[in-house]
Amino acid sequence: MLTFQQQEFDSEHDRSFYLCNDLLSVANELGIETGFMLSADMELEQLQSVQAELEKIIEAEYEAKKDDFRRMKRCPQGFKWNPEGTGWRCEGGSHYCTPEQIKQFME
Ligand SMILES: [Zn+2]
Repeated sequence: MLTFQQQEFDSEHDRSFYLCNDLLSVANELGIETGFMLSADMELEQLQSVQAELEKIIEAEYEAKKDDFRRMKRCPQGFKWNPEGTGWRCEGGSHYCTPEQIKQFME
């Protein structure tokens, strides 16, 4: 479900390191505190387990947001909400809600 840009890498290790970095920044954007620290001299196996762990955490967060999204009413002007960054923006574009504020728009 998560898609990454196609990119060439010198080694499986480089590729995994790149993906982990990417996943960490996605987690940050979603406001998830993962506690993972990456270092370029980590073993490939370590990187792959961090990668798997991060993918799991992020998928779960997306799933949770999808449920919230289904229960949401429309914005004051009647537009639907779409996830954006750590919150939601209405399709009209003029309303933005943080995860805390969105509760007032839940059914
Ligand atoms: Zn709106």
